[in-house]
Amino acid sequence: MAQTINVTVTSIRMVKSNIIRLEIFRPADYQFVPGQFARIGISSDDKVGSTVWRAQTIASRPEGPALTFYIVYLENQQFSEPLKRIKQGDQIFLDAVSYGHFTLDRFSAGGDIWLFSTGSGIAPYLCMLQQKKIWEDFANIILISSFKDETQFVYEESLPLTFERLSSFQLENYHKFSFVPVFTRKKVVSECIVKGIKTDSVFSGAYFEEIISNGALNLILKNSISAKNSKVMLSGNPNMIKTTRNYLKTLDLRSSRRDSPGQIAVENYW
Ligand SMILES: Cc1cc2nc3c(=O)[nH]c(=O)nc-3n(C[C@H](O)[C@H](O)[C@H](O)COP(=O)(O)OP(=O)(O)OC[C@H]3O[C@@H](n4cnc5c(N)ncnc54)[C@H](O)[C@@H]3O)c2cc1C
Repeated sequence: MAQTINVTVTSIRMVKSNIIRLEIFRPADYQFVPGQFARIGISSDDKVGSTVWRAQTIASRPEGPALTFYIVYLENQQFSEPLKRIKQGDQIFLDAVSYGHFTLDRFSAGGDIWLFSTGSGIAPYLCMLQQKKIWEDFANIILISSFKDETQFVYEESLPLTFERLSSFQLENYHKFSFVPVFTRKKVVSECIVKGIKTDSVFSGAYFEEIISNGALNLILKNSISAKNSKVMLSGNPNMIKTTRNYLKTLDLRSSRRDSPGQIAVENYW
C-alpha cells in the first residue's frame, strides 16, 4: 500500500455552487505525469477516525509548487460533504504516489490529438496543455469539452485562451490549437478557437458521437477524425465514453494498450 502523507490546503474556494477548486502544498518528492490522478483522503465526521478517499485528477503543471484540483460538489455524497467543510490551512491526506495511465505516452507522436471531456473531466487536459510535450508532439491539438451550460465552464484561468497568458511554447504553436465548448442544455453562441483564431459558433444539445458523425465538428474545425491521422482521448462521464468509443470503433480507431498501440485512451470518472 502507498504511504499516506499529511498535506496543507493552501487554497480552497467554491468556483460554482457545484465545483470546488482545491490547492494543496506539493510535497517535495511528489512526481506525476500530466493526465495522472492523486488519491486524496478527507476525515469524515460521520465516524470518528474514518477517512474518505477519492481519485482526483491533477490539473496543475508538474513543475509547480502546488497541486490543483477541480472537484465536483455533490450534495450528501461521501467525499463532497467533508470536502465542503475544509478551509485554507487545514490538513488532508494524500497518497505519496500518483496513479493512472491516461497520459500522452499512450500514443506515438505525430498526427492530431483530439481531447474530449464532460464536466470536470477536462482536468487532465488542463495539465497536459501546460506542458511542452503535447504542443510539440502533435500537428493539431483539438479540445472539445461539454458542460451542462455556460455557468459550468469555470476553467478559463487554466486554459490557453488569451494571448497575454500564453507561455513561449504555447505561443509558438498556437496555430495548432482549437477549442470547442459544447453546452448541452442550451443553444448558445459560444466562442471557439480554430487553429489559434477566435471564432463564434452555435453548438448545443448534442452528444459527441452525434457531432462527429453529422459533420458539425468537421464544419467548424475543417478537420475530421481518422484512424490514420488521429489520436483521441475521452475523459469524464462513462456513458459519453462508451457511446463515443463505440462510434470511433466504426471509424477503425482502436483502444491503445501497452502491448498494442492504438488511437483511443479513456478515463472513466465513475
Ligand atoms: C481516475 C479518476 C479521476 C477523477 N478525477 C476527478 C476530478 O478531477 N474531479 C472530480 O470532480 N471528480 C473526479 N473523479 C471522481 C471522484 O473520484 C469522486 O467520485 C467525486 O469527487 C465525487 O465524490 P463523492 O463521494 O462526493 O461522490 P461519489 O460517491 O464518488 O459519486 C456519486 C455519483 O456522482 C456522480 N459523479 C462522480 N464524480 C462525478 C464528477 N466528477 N462529475 C459529475 N458527476 C460525478 C456519479 O454518478 C457517481 O456515481 C475522478 C474519478 C476517477 C476514477
